[in-house]
Amino acid sequence: MIPDSEFGRIVEPSDEGELAAAVRDARENGTPLAITGGGTRPIGRPVDALATVSTTKLSGITAYSANEMVATVRAGTPLSELQAALDDANQRLVFEPIDHRDLLGTEGTPTVGGMVAVNASGPRRFVAGACRDSLLGVRFVNGNGEVVKNGGRVMKNVTGLDLVKPMAGSHGTLGIMSEVTLKVQPRPETEATLALRGLLDVDAISVLAHAMATPNEVTGAAHLPELVAGSVLDGELGSGPATLLRIEGFAASVGERSEKLKAMFASLGDIEDIDADRSQKLWREIRDVKPFADHRERPVWRISMKPSDAHEAVMALRMEAGASAFYDWQGGLAWVRMEGGNTMSGLVRKAVQDNGGGHATLIRATDSERRFAVPFQPLDKPLAILEKRVREAFDPQGIFNPGRMVA
Ligand SMILES: Cc1cc2nc3c(=O)[nH]c(=O)nc-3n(C[C@H](O)[C@H](O)[C@H](O)COP(=O)(O)OP(=O)(O)OC[C@H]3O[C@@H](n4cnc5c(N)ncnc54)[C@H](O)[C@@H]3O)c2cc1C
Repeated sequence: MIPDSEFGRIVEPSDEGELAAAVRDARENGTPLAITGGGTRPIGRPVDALATVSTTKLSGITAYSANEMVATVRAGTPLSELQAALDDANQRLVFEPIDHRDLLGTEGTPTVGGMVAVNASGPRRFVAGACRDSLLGVRFVNGNGEVVKNGGRVMKNVTGLDLVKPMAGSHGTLGIMSEVTLKVQPRPETEATLALRGLLDVDAISVLAHAMATPNEVTGAAHLPELVAGSVLDGELGSGPATLLRIEGFAASVGERSEKLKAMFASLGDIEDIDADRSQKLWREIRDVKPFADHRERPVWRISMKPSDAHEAVMALRMEAGASAFYDWQGGLAWVRMEGGNTMSGLVRKAVQDNGGGHATLIRATDSERRFAVPFQPLDKPLAILEKRVREAFDPQGIFNPGRMVA
């Protein structure tokens, strides 16, 4: 798959002033702009642009206070640079952002701006929040070429709206971020994972719900059905279903909480212990959708629903079309690969709608399918009106990543 980041002229501003000037220039000339960081996350429709703004030169950590647990980073900074600084201070990003490269077959150096732009969040999201929830501040250039920062300039037409949160998940359609401020967190001493074996989806989801209802502070709750389980940890789990519970914290407390959970589910059969190193690898693989990172173009959907509903939607998809799936977030997030090679958009949206509703996003598909599909969940009318108003206020001429989120 091609990262759709190369459109005509490439502009690489090296500071916010140059970035704002480039946007004013584009606005005056009516030039639609594609925005790219590392080009590793071409999610949504291909962009129809005439020039590309690259954030590569807007790089570097501006301020990082481990004591205050806050980092301010320029948008084009490689995520690896931020993560190295956090590692040195034994801290981390709590939202465990997904790395899309293996799933989407992209290459490049992922950036912090791209991570925020797609609101990249992983397995811990269901207890610790999304990237958006760790985002304390953002500086960006709006469609009028003005520098906007939270607590600074008030944008007319959107007075009273928190300008920070909408930027996370806006896929570069509201403004070009130049700098973001993120909350960070101390790294726990250790972690462990319990694997219950052989459960059907419906029983596994019930186990995950029961585990979450205890005070054992589970921070990862996933279920890998039959065959899918074999594609993580180098096949070590075998192909039988695996229902996974992660516990993090001080070693003694992790041990104690594991024992309590094991006692609780002892009657369900064997429970395997997965030690800290393998647990880290396992959750990284779940985060990065390793079971479907197969270098093929079979469509992959990310479906977010009530934990009690998602497996019903998956069942409907399995019955009506070939589909493989696994679950994260206590069953509330289903990653679904359509085995027939067609996005089956209508069927997917109907399965979600008929089973309690939720959000389905087409994450992987060929360029031509992405162009004709509706990759993001269509909004209800009142929300769509609000979204349109926000878009018009941020980017009146629609010059940023045109077409990416809406046709
Ligand atoms: C060592 C290492 C470890 C990593 N670990 C993780 C990890 O733990 N979790 C994880 O998720 N990822 C990880 N990554 C990958 C990384 O988080 C993401 O892939 C990366 O942040 C995505 O950014 P991008 O620049 O590639 O996005 P792109 O694909 O360039 O952009 C994504 C979207 O955002 C828009 N966009 C990009 N920049 C801006 C901006 N400044 N303003 C407005 N819109 C913008 C684009 O137009 C596009 O629509 C890791 C990478 C490395 C190298």
